[in-house]
Amino acid sequence: MFIRTQICIIGAGPAGAAAALQLDRLGIPSTIVDKAVFPRDKVCGDGLSGKAITGLERIDAAIVERFRQQSFVRESWSVSFIAPSRVDMNMAYAPLVRNNEKLAPSFVCKRVDFDNFLVEELKHSANVTLHEGVNISAYTLTPEGYELRDKARDITILADLVIVANGAHSQFSKEVAGFKMEPKHNAAGLRVYYDGIEDLKTDGAIELHFLYSVLPGYLWIFPLPNGEANVGVGMLTQAVTKKRINLKKLLQDTIQHDPVLQKRFKNAVVKSTIDGYGLPFGSKIRSLSGDRYMLIGDAGFLIDPFSGEGIGNGIYSGRLAAMQAKEAISRNDYSRNCLVEYDQRLYKSLGTELKLSHRLQQLVKYPRLLNWLMKLGANNKQVNELITCMFYDIDIRKKLAKPSFYFKLLFNKP
Ligand SMILES: Cc1cc2nc3c(=O)[nH]c(=O)nc-3n(C[C@H](O)[C@H](O)[C@H](O)COP(=O)(O)OP(=O)(O)OC[C@H]3O[C@@H](n4cnc5c(N)ncnc54)[C@H](O)[C@@H]3O)c2cc1C
Repeated sequence: MFIRTQICIIGAGPAGAAAALQLDRLGIPSTIVDKAVFPRDKVCGDGLSGKAITGLERIDAAIVERFRQQSFVRESWSVSFIAPSRVDMNMAYAPLVRNNEKLAPSFVCKRVDFDNFLVEELKHSANVTLHEGVNISAYTLTPEGYELRDKARDITILADLVIVANGAHSQFSKEVAGFKMEPKHNAAGLRVYYDGIEDLKTDGAIELHFLYSVLPGYLWIFPLPNGEANVGVGMLTQAVTKKRINLKKLLQDTIQHDPVLQKRFKNAVVKSTIDGYGLPFGSKIRSLSGDRYMLIGDAGFLIDPFSGEGIGNGIYSGRLAAMQAKEAISRNDYSRNCLVEYDQRLYKSLGTELKLSHRLQQLVKYPRLLNWLMKLGANNKQVNELITCMFYDIDIRKKLAKPSFYFKLLFNKP
């Protein structure tokens, strides 16, 4: 089979889907391929932050309205940070206000459902042609465009422009863009589903446990609908390698032996295997475009190095790449000279945030500082609100990354 297209997107995860949906809303046709047939799973914490939701809203608010109505979605109204000392600092998110209505700002939703929801949106978008079960295994730059091939199925696609969205293990990112997995800019993560964990908060709070046994990583419990929860552990690859940590054993041992978790998991039933995947962090500026291509989402190594959140940045980068594609088409220029404007826009918007998150990531190296900060946040409304804001207010993140902030806190003048 031979397909000629102006734009080909490789990968229909959140980043690729966002790019195709944005192109559709701009009236630009695209072809999107994925090696999987949906619904398919993706190892993840399943946390959908405000950034992911507002990113989708900017593409088309109707998509988010439809998403909110799905039965597989759990609203989340707060986040609980559990310090090594076990102080629980619970922080409420500000609601999203739309038409005078207060709406949940974030969600937990299994990726098998979320990604399939987006794929259904693609199927209902007139300008999008989706091909499932197409695994791009070869790419050649020719004077006419990028030639992409699924060798096993003998499919060739010739595209003027390629938007690369095939995730953390993208061969294109490695072989063409020269990306390497760097242990200090990468984390390893594991996820397992449980049913029946006790004492989950009723407002769908996501829990981040910075326990001594898990530092410098953290364990999470993210509640899903129907009493299920996504439980996992993540840690910088550098620490995993240096300390020779077996993450699977660490997760199982912590659940079995930690006195608090042991009780909460007493009657919980494991609902899946324990699965792992890499998290390439955007803690370093990289070149995201070249002649006839742009890298988005995990293929562009864009995960937030503090929160481990990549869906929002995937959607964000997909949207920006679609807007740059429009520009390239109007100028009939698919060279790096033109596409580099995508890099510039992306780092202008996300660069400071990624840099600050990288600095905040260092906090987990100092359990005492974490204990102190969370105790302060648990007892002091003002500090609590300040720290909650850091998840969506960049100026607050800037404050948090400055040592002087902690001195001010010490003297109770945040
Ligand atoms: C353990 C863990 C927990 C996480 N928790 C969270 C969280 O709670 N919240 C959050 O926001 N982020 C989280 N992340 C990060 C998040 O999962 C990623 O950032 C997100 O999936 C990136 O989306 P993407 O579209 O770039 O890539 P992906 O979701 O990986 O999608 C890539 C797509 O490309 C397809 N593909 C791959 N190769 C090819 C090929 N050769 N040809 C065709 N198609 C191909 C795949 O089938 C897939 O559908 C977590 C990650 C891990 C590992």
